[in-house]
Amino acid sequence: MPRPIELTVSISALSHNLAVARRAAPGSRVWAVVKANAYGHGLDVAQQGFATADGVALVEFDAAQRLRESGWTKPILMLEGPFDISDVQLAMHQNLTLVLHSLAQVPMIEALPPHSRPAVYLKFNSGMHRLGMNAADLRSAHARLSQADAAGRPTLMTHFASADMPGGADQALAAFVHATEGLSGPRSTSNSAAVFDLPAAHGDWIRPGVMLYGATPFSGRTAASLGLHAAMRLSTRLIAVQSLQAGDRVGYGGTFVAPGPMRIGVLACGYADGYPRHAPTGTPVLVAGVRTRTIGRVAMDMMMVDLSAVPEAGVGAEVELWGPALPVDEVAEAAGTIGYELLCAIAPRVPRRTVI
Ligand SMILES: *Cc1c(COP(=O)(O)O)cnc(C)c1O
Repeated sequence: MPRPIELTVSISALSHNLAVARRAAPGSRVWAVVKANAYGHGLDVAQQGFATADGVALVEFDAAQRLRESGWTKPILMLEGPFDISDVQLAMHQNLTLVLHSLAQVPMIEALPPHSRPAVYLKFNSGMHRLGMNAADLRSAHARLSQADAAGRPTLMTHFASADMPGGADQALAAFVHATEGLSGPRSTSNSAAVFDLPAAHGDWIRPGVMLYGATPFSGRTAASLGLHAAMRLSTRLIAVQSLQAGDRVGYGGTFVAPGPMRIGVLACGYADGYPRHAPTGTPVLVAGVRTRTIGRVAMDMMMVDLSAVPEAGVGAEVELWGPALPVDEVAEAAGTIGYELLCAIAPRVPRRTVI
Protein backbone atom coordinates (compact mmCIF):
# COMPACT_ATOMS: atom_id res chain seq x y z
CA MET A 1 0.00 0.00 0.00
CA PRO A 2 1.11 3.59 -0.43
CA ARG A 3 2.55 5.29 2.62
CA PRO A 4 -0.37 6.46 4.74
CA ILE A 5 0.13 10.17 4.15
CA GLU A 6 -2.18 12.29 2.06
CA LEU A 7 -2.75 15.83 0.95
CA THR A 8 -6.41 16.68 0.41
CA VAL A 9 -7.40 19.89 -1.35
CA SER A 10 -10.95 21.22 -1.18
CA ILE A 11 -12.22 22.98 -4.30
CA SER A 12 -15.20 24.41 -2.44
CA ALA A 13 -12.89 25.96 0.18
CA LEU A 14 -10.91 27.67 -2.60
CA SER A 15 -14.14 29.01 -4.13
CA HIS A 16 -15.44 30.10 -0.73
CA ASN A 17 -12.26 32.08 -0.02
CA LEU A 18 -12.40 33.72 -3.44
CA ALA A 19 -15.93 34.85 -2.58
CA VAL A 20 -14.60 36.30 0.71
CA ALA A 21 -12.07 38.34 -1.30
CA ARG A 22 -14.80 39.57 -3.65
CA ARG A 23 -17.02 40.63 -0.77
CA ALA A 24 -14.11 42.52 0.82
CA ALA A 25 -13.40 44.39 -2.42
CA PRO A 26 -16.71 44.50 -4.29
CA GLY A 27 -15.58 47.17 -6.75
CA SER A 28 -12.43 45.39 -7.89
CA ARG A 29 -11.59 42.61 -10.26
CA VAL A 30 -9.59 39.71 -8.83
CA TRP A 31 -6.27 38.21 -9.82
CA ALA A 32 -6.16 34.90 -7.96
CA VAL A 33 -2.47 34.46 -7.14
CA VAL A 34 -1.41 30.90 -8.03
CA LYS A 35 2.39 31.11 -7.92
CA ALA A 36 4.38 28.24 -6.38
CA ASN A 37 1.95 25.63 -7.69
CA ALA A 38 -0.97 27.54 -6.20
CA TYR A 39 0.75 27.84 -2.82
CA GLY A 40 1.28 24.08 -2.91
CA HIS A 41 -2.34 23.21 -3.65
CA GLY A 42 -1.82 22.27 -7.32
CA LEU A 43 -2.40 24.43 -10.37
CA ASP A 44 -5.06 22.14 -11.79
CA VAL A 45 -7.11 22.24 -8.60
CA ALA A 46 -6.68 26.00 -8.34
CA GLN A 47 -7.95 26.37 -11.89
CA GLN A 48 -11.18 24.68 -10.79
CA GLY A 49 -11.48 26.47 -7.46
CA PHE A 50 -10.80 29.87 -9.01
CA ALA A 51 -12.80 29.33 -12.21
CA THR A 52 -14.73 32.55 -11.58
CA ALA A 53 -11.66 34.72 -10.89
CA ASP A 54 -11.05 37.47 -13.44
CA GLY A 55 -7.49 36.27 -13.97
CA VAL A 56 -4.67 34.35 -12.33
CA ALA A 57 -1.25 35.70 -11.36
CA LEU A 58 2.01 33.78 -10.97
CA VAL A 59 5.75 33.98 -11.63
CA GLU A 60 6.57 30.78 -13.56
CA PHE A 61 6.35 30.94 -17.36
CA ASP A 62 6.21 27.16 -17.79
CA ALA A 63 3.22 27.03 -15.45
CA ALA A 64 1.54 29.87 -17.36
CA GLN A 65 1.95 27.89 -20.55
CA ARG A 66 0.44 24.82 -18.88
CA LEU A 67 -2.55 26.92 -17.81
CA ARG A 68 -3.12 27.96 -21.43
CA GLU A 69 -2.76 24.36 -22.63
CA SER A 70 -5.31 23.19 -20.10
CA GLY A 71 -7.85 25.72 -21.29
CA TRP A 72 -7.48 28.81 -19.09
CA THR A 73 -8.50 31.60 -21.48
CA LYS A 74 -8.77 34.50 -19.02
CA PRO A 75 -5.88 36.88 -18.29
CA ILE A 76 -2.64 35.63 -16.76
CA LEU A 77 -0.37 38.12 -14.97
CA MET A 78 3.36 37.40 -14.67
CA LEU A 79 4.19 39.02 -11.32
CA GLU A 80 7.97 38.81 -11.51
CA GLY A 81 8.10 40.07 -15.08
CA PRO A 82 9.97 38.69 -18.10
CA PHE A 83 13.46 37.34 -17.32
CA ASP A 84 14.60 37.70 -20.91
CA ILE A 85 13.29 38.30 -24.42
CA SER A 86 12.06 34.70 -24.80
CA ASP A 87 9.52 35.40 -22.04
CA VAL A 88 8.29 38.45 -23.95
CA GLN A 89 7.83 36.27 -27.04
CA LEU A 90 5.93 33.71 -24.99
CA ALA A 91 3.78 36.48 -23.52
CA MET A 92 2.94 37.62 -27.06
CA HIS A 93 1.96 34.16 -28.22
CA GLN A 94 0.13 33.04 -25.06
CA ASN A 95 -1.48 36.38 -24.30
CA LEU A 96 0.22 36.86 -20.93
CA THR A 97 0.28 40.18 -19.11
CA LEU A 98 3.79 41.22 -18.06
CA VAL A 99 4.88 43.19 -15.02
CA LEU A 100 7.69 45.57 -15.98
CA HIS A 101 9.59 46.53 -12.86
CA SER A 102 12.53 48.35 -14.43
CA LEU A 103 12.99 50.92 -17.16
CA ALA A 104 15.57 48.58 -18.70
CA GLN A 105 12.74 46.21 -19.67
CA VAL A 106 10.82 48.79 -21.70
CA PRO A 107 12.85 48.40 -24.95
CA MET A 108 11.87 44.70 -25.13
CA ILE A 109 8.26 45.85 -25.50
CA GLU A 110 9.00 48.87 -27.69
CA ALA A 111 10.78 46.58 -30.16
CA LEU A 112 7.51 44.78 -30.92
CA PRO A 113 4.95 46.00 -33.45
CA PRO A 114 2.33 47.90 -31.41
CA HIS A 115 -0.54 45.61 -32.35
CA SER A 116 1.26 42.50 -31.05
CA ARG A 117 2.55 43.89 -27.76
CA PRO A 118 1.57 42.04 -24.60
CA ALA A 119 -0.43 43.94 -21.99
CA VAL A 120 1.84 45.39 -19.31
CA TYR A 121 1.77 46.37 -15.67
CA LEU A 122 4.25 49.03 -14.57
CA LYS A 123 5.50 48.45 -11.07
CA PHE A 124 6.32 51.22 -8.63
CA ASN A 125 8.68 50.66 -5.69
CA SER A 126 6.64 51.98 -2.77
CA GLY A 127 9.31 51.29 -0.17
CA MET A 128 9.93 47.56 -0.18
CA HIS A 129 13.01 47.88 -2.40
CA ARG A 130 12.46 44.51 -3.98
CA LEU A 131 11.03 45.08 -7.48
CA GLY A 132 9.79 48.36 -8.88
CA MET A 133 10.71 51.68 -10.47
CA ASN A 134 11.08 55.05 -8.85
CA ALA A 135 8.53 57.74 -9.70
CA ALA A 136 10.57 59.30 -12.53
CA ASP A 137 11.20 55.96 -14.24
CA LEU A 138 7.56 54.99 -13.80
CA ARG A 139 6.43 58.18 -15.55
CA SER A 140 8.95 57.69 -18.30
CA ALA A 141 7.91 54.06 -18.88
CA HIS A 142 4.27 55.10 -18.81
CA ALA A 143 4.86 57.81 -21.42
CA ARG A 144 6.79 55.45 -23.70
CA LEU A 145 4.22 52.65 -23.53
CA SER A 146 1.09 54.80 -23.62
CA GLN A 147 1.61 55.95 -27.20
CA ALA A 148 -1.63 56.11 -29.11
CA ASP A 149 -0.60 53.15 -31.25
CA ALA A 150 0.37 50.85 -28.37
CA ALA A 151 -2.04 48.12 -27.36
CA GLY A 152 -4.04 49.26 -24.37
CA ARG A 153 -2.92 51.31 -21.40
CA PRO A 154 -0.42 50.06 -18.86
CA THR A 155 -1.82 49.23 -15.44
CA LEU A 156 -0.04 50.87 -12.52
CA MET A 157 0.87 48.59 -9.65
CA THR A 158 2.82 48.35 -6.44
CA HIS A 159 3.31 45.74 -3.73
CA PHE A 160 3.21 46.61 -0.03
CA ALA A 161 5.99 45.57 2.34
CA SER A 162 3.92 45.83 5.53
CA ALA A 163 0.20 45.68 4.75
CA ASP A 164 -0.14 43.04 7.49
CA MET A 165 0.59 45.63 10.19
CA PRO A 166 -1.93 48.25 11.35
CA GLY A 167 -1.26 51.36 9.27
CA GLY A 168 1.81 49.61 7.84
CA ALA A 169 0.96 50.41 4.22
CA ASP A 170 -0.36 53.96 4.66
CA GLN A 171 2.89 55.62 3.64
CA ALA A 172 3.46 53.25 0.74
CA LEU A 173 -0.07 53.86 -0.54
CA ALA A 174 0.44 57.63 -0.30
CA ALA A 175 3.72 57.29 -2.22
CA PHE A 176 1.98 55.24 -4.92
CA VAL A 177 -0.90 57.71 -5.22
CA HIS A 178 1.57 60.58 -5.50
CA ALA A 179 3.81 58.81 -8.02
CA THR A 180 0.87 57.88 -10.26
CA GLU A 181 -1.03 61.16 -10.01
CA GLY A 182 -2.40 62.20 -13.39
CA LEU A 183 -1.30 58.98 -15.12
CA SER A 184 -4.09 57.14 -16.91
CA GLY A 185 -4.66 53.44 -16.50
CA PRO A 186 -6.05 50.95 -13.98
CA ARG A 187 -4.47 50.46 -10.54
CA SER A 188 -3.50 47.29 -8.67
CA THR A 189 -1.91 47.25 -5.23
CA SER A 190 -3.57 44.86 -2.79
CA ASN A 191 -2.29 41.55 -1.47
CA SER A 192 -4.43 39.55 0.99
CA ALA A 193 -3.64 41.78 3.97
CA ALA A 194 -4.58 44.95 2.05
CA VAL A 195 -7.74 43.28 0.74
CA PHE A 196 -8.90 42.97 4.35
CA ASP A 197 -7.47 46.12 5.89
CA LEU A 198 -6.91 48.79 3.27
CA PRO A 199 -10.06 49.45 1.23
CA ALA A 200 -8.58 52.75 0.05
CA ALA A 201 -5.95 50.74 -1.84
CA HIS A 202 -8.22 48.23 -3.60
CA GLY A 203 -8.31 49.97 -6.97
CA ASP A 204 -9.24 48.12 -10.15
CA TRP A 205 -7.57 44.74 -9.55
CA ILE A 206 -6.79 43.11 -6.20
CA ARG A 207 -4.15 40.36 -5.94
CA PRO A 208 -5.08 38.03 -3.06
CA GLY A 209 -2.89 34.99 -2.52
CA VAL A 210 -2.64 33.30 0.85
CA MET A 211 -6.21 34.16 1.93
CA LEU A 212 -7.57 32.18 -1.03
CA TYR A 213 -6.04 29.06 0.47
CA GLY A 214 -7.57 29.64 3.88
CA ALA A 215 -4.50 30.85 5.76
CA THR A 216 -4.13 34.21 7.46
CA PRO A 217 -1.90 37.01 6.14
CA PHE A 218 -1.75 38.46 9.68
CA SER A 219 0.09 37.30 12.76
CA GLY A 220 -2.35 37.37 15.63
CA ARG A 221 -5.56 37.16 13.56
CA THR A 222 -6.81 33.69 12.73
CA ALA A 223 -8.05 32.60 9.32
CA ALA A 224 -11.35 31.58 10.94
CA SER A 225 -11.86 35.10 12.34
CA LEU A 226 -11.47 36.37 8.75
CA GLY A 227 -14.14 33.95 7.51
CA LEU A 228 -11.69 31.77 5.59
CA HIS A 229 -11.82 27.99 5.14
CA ALA A 230 -8.65 25.86 5.06
CA ALA A 231 -8.30 24.41 1.56
CA MET A 232 -5.46 22.01 2.40
CA ARG A 233 -5.45 19.08 4.79
CA LEU A 234 -2.25 17.16 5.46
CA SER A 235 -3.01 13.87 7.16
CA THR A 236 -1.31 10.61 8.03
CA ARG A 237 -1.71 7.66 10.42
CA LEU A 238 0.05 6.14 13.40
CA ILE A 239 2.37 3.41 12.13
CA ALA A 240 3.75 2.38 15.55
CA VAL A 241 3.21 2.96 19.25
CA GLN A 242 5.91 2.94 21.95
CA SER A 243 5.56 2.75 25.70
CA LEU A 244 8.15 4.83 27.52
CA GLN A 245 9.48 4.75 31.05
CA ALA A 246 10.75 7.77 32.95
CA GLY A 247 14.09 8.86 31.47
CA ASP A 248 13.58 7.26 28.03
CA ARG A 249 14.66 9.49 25.19
CA VAL A 250 12.85 10.04 21.88
CA GLY A 251 14.16 10.60 18.34
CA TYR A 252 17.45 11.85 16.92
CA GLY A 253 19.63 13.45 19.55
CA GLY A 254 17.27 12.23 22.28
CA THR A 255 16.06 15.77 22.83
CA PHE A 256 12.83 14.67 24.52
CA VAL A 257 13.10 12.83 27.81
CA ALA A 258 10.01 11.09 29.20
CA PRO A 259 9.13 12.55 32.63
CA GLY A 260 7.30 9.33 33.54
CA PRO A 261 5.57 6.38 31.92
CA MET A 262 3.80 7.47 28.73
CA ARG A 263 2.66 6.23 25.30
CA ILE A 264 3.87 7.87 22.13
CA GLY A 265 2.85 7.37 18.50
CA VAL A 266 5.01 7.33 15.38
CA LEU A 267 3.62 9.12 12.28
CA ALA A 268 4.40 8.51 8.61
CA CYS A 269 5.30 12.14 7.97
CA GLY A 270 8.65 13.91 8.14
CA TYR A 271 10.56 16.82 6.74
CA ALA A 272 10.94 15.08 3.35
CA ASP A 273 7.16 15.39 3.09
CA GLY A 274 7.28 19.11 3.80
CA TYR A 275 6.65 19.10 7.55
CA PRO A 276 8.97 21.70 9.11
CA ARG A 277 11.99 20.13 10.79
CA HIS A 278 12.21 23.14 13.07
CA ALA A 279 8.85 22.37 14.68
CA PRO A 280 9.85 21.87 18.32
CA THR A 281 8.42 19.51 20.93
CA GLY A 282 4.96 20.86 21.71
CA THR A 283 3.87 21.71 18.16
CA PRO A 284 0.13 21.00 17.94
CA VAL A 285 -1.15 17.92 16.11
CA LEU A 286 -4.50 16.10 16.05
CA VAL A 287 -4.63 12.36 16.74
CA ALA A 288 -8.06 10.77 16.24
CA GLY A 289 -9.47 14.28 16.43
CA VAL A 290 -7.83 15.01 19.78
CA ARG A 291 -5.35 17.82 20.09
CA THR A 292 -1.95 16.73 21.33
CA ARG A 293 1.69 17.63 20.66
CA THR A 294 4.75 16.51 18.75
CA ILE A 295 7.73 15.30 20.72
CA GLY A 296 11.41 15.10 19.80
CA ARG A 297 13.01 16.03 16.50
CA VAL A 298 11.15 15.66 13.23
CA ALA A 299 12.98 13.07 11.10
CA MET A 300 13.01 12.72 7.31
CA ASP A 301 10.10 10.27 7.09
CA MET A 302 8.66 10.12 10.60
CA MET A 303 7.88 12.06 13.71
CA MET A 304 6.57 11.25 17.16
CA VAL A 305 3.55 12.46 19.09
CA ASP A 306 2.38 12.31 22.67
CA LEU A 307 -0.57 9.92 23.12
CA SER A 308 -1.25 10.78 26.79
CA ALA A 309 -4.44 12.61 25.81
CA VAL A 310 -5.56 9.82 23.42
CA PRO A 311 -5.19 6.54 25.32
CA GLU A 312 -7.44 4.71 22.83
CA ALA A 313 -5.32 5.62 19.78
CA GLY A 314 -3.37 2.73 18.26
CA VAL A 315 -1.65 1.86 15.00
CA GLY A 316 -3.81 3.12 12.12
CA ALA A 317 -5.30 6.05 14.04
CA GLU A 318 -5.90 9.12 11.86
CA VAL A 319 -3.66 12.15 12.33
CA GLU A 320 -4.17 15.67 11.01
CA LEU A 321 -0.92 17.66 10.72
CA TRP A 322 -2.85 20.73 9.58
CA GLY A 323 -6.16 21.40 7.90
CA PRO A 324 -9.71 22.43 8.71
CA ALA A 325 -9.42 21.22 12.33
CA LEU A 326 -5.90 22.51 12.98
CA PRO A 327 -4.92 25.80 11.30
CA VAL A 328 -1.65 25.65 9.37
CA ASP A 329 -0.93 29.06 10.89
CA GLU A 330 -0.74 27.54 14.39
CA VAL A 331 1.74 24.90 13.28
CA ALA A 332 3.74 27.57 11.44
CA GLU A 333 3.87 29.80 14.48
CA ALA A 334 5.13 26.94 16.65
CA ALA A 335 7.82 26.26 14.05
CA GLY A 336 8.87 29.91 13.83
CA THR A 337 7.55 30.52 10.33
CA ILE A 338 4.37 31.52 8.48
CA GLY A 339 1.59 29.44 6.95
CA TYR A 340 2.70 30.45 3.44
CA GLU A 341 5.96 28.53 3.80
CA LEU A 342 4.36 25.32 5.05
CA LEU A 343 1.68 25.31 2.34
CA CYS A 344 4.10 25.64 -0.54
CA ALA A 345 6.68 23.22 0.88
CA ILE A 346 4.63 20.02 0.44
CA ALA A 347 6.89 17.48 -1.29
CA PRO A 348 6.04 15.83 -4.61
CA ARG A 349 6.09 12.37 -2.96
CA VAL A 350 2.96 13.12 -0.94
CA PRO A 351 -0.10 11.59 -2.65
CA ARG A 352 -2.81 14.13 -3.47
CA ARG A 353 -6.55 13.95 -3.51
CA THR A 354 -9.09 16.56 -4.53
CA VAL A 355 -12.46 16.85 -2.89
CA ILE A 356 -15.42 19.06 -3.75
C1 LIG B 1 2.60 36.82 -3.84
C2 LIG B 1 2.09 38.14 -4.28
C3 LIG B 1 0.80 38.56 -3.94
C4 LIG B 1 -0.10 37.78 -3.00
O1 LIG B 1 0.32 37.98 -1.68
P1 LIG B 1 -0.47 37.33 -0.42
O2 LIG B 1 0.19 37.90 0.76
O3 LIG B 1 -0.26 35.85 -0.53
O4 LIG B 1 -1.87 37.71 -0.58
C5 LIG B 1 0.35 39.75 -4.47
N1 LIG B 1 1.15 40.51 -5.27
C6 LIG B 1 2.42 40.15 -5.58
C7 LIG B 1 3.25 41.03 -6.44
C8 LIG B 1 2.93 38.95 -5.09
O5 LIG B 1 4.19 38.59 -5.39
